[in-house]
Amino acid sequence: MAEPPRRIRPRDDPSSWSYYGAAHRYDVHGDPDAEAACERRMDMLVLERREDELKALSMAGDRCAFIALIEILVDENRVDDLRAMAEAGDGRAHATLMELLRNQECAD
Ligand SMILES: [Zn+2]
Repeated sequence: MAEPPRRIRPRDDPSSWSYYGAAHRYDVHGDPDAEAACERRMDMLVLERREDELKALSMAGDRCAFIALIEILVDENRVDDLRAMAEAGDGRAHATLMELLRNQECAD
């Protein structure tokens, strides 16, 4: 069977980002098979643009799904969507929004 397509994941840069790129900064799955299965699942959801599912998983406490979702928003510079999540009470989205704005300032 052909390997499913993989996405290019952002680099993990803890000095710039709390969550972006940080899906597997530390082990949340407990074993390599679960880790690999999670990566394949998140790649599929992102490549197929299934943002509603990512959002639902994220709200249900799936850290990897949250990170995959905000990676889409950051990569596409969707400040309004990040702000909406932050205003709905998501502190991680708020942190990511602040980091995005700070990184944009540094790039100017
Ligand atoms: Zn994961």
